Amino acid sequence: MDRLRDEIARFARERDWEQFHSPKNLAMALSVEVAELLEIFQWLSEKESYQLTEKQLGQLKEEIGDVMTYLTGLAARFNLDPIECAREKMEINKLKYPVERVKGSSKKYNEY
Ligand SMILES: [Mg+2]
Repeated sequence: MDRLRDEIARFARERDWEQFHSPKNLAMALSVEVAELLEIFQWLSEKESYQLTEKQLGQLKEEIGDVMTYLTGLAARFNLDPIECAREKMEINKLKYPVERVKGSSKKYNEY
């Protein structure tokens, strides 16, 4: 994770793009990349969404890379490690969604 963070920072620094990478802009860029990822699945049937073509799989790989890049860049601006954030959130989710209460249900925590 640290290597990826450093590589992303170097990439921006070498191009003098840090001036454009405010937290606000990084959050917006992240959202755009998530939308590009969604576009791959737009109009596919449920079944088709499990069986991507080679081309779609290549696009998915690129968009996951873009999302991860902006997410990592945004987190770095606040000295946060996205992996640590995810781990901490999983602990919160485990408390919000105890297995015995939610197993097999897609309801939100405030609906069960
Ligand atoms: Mg993209």
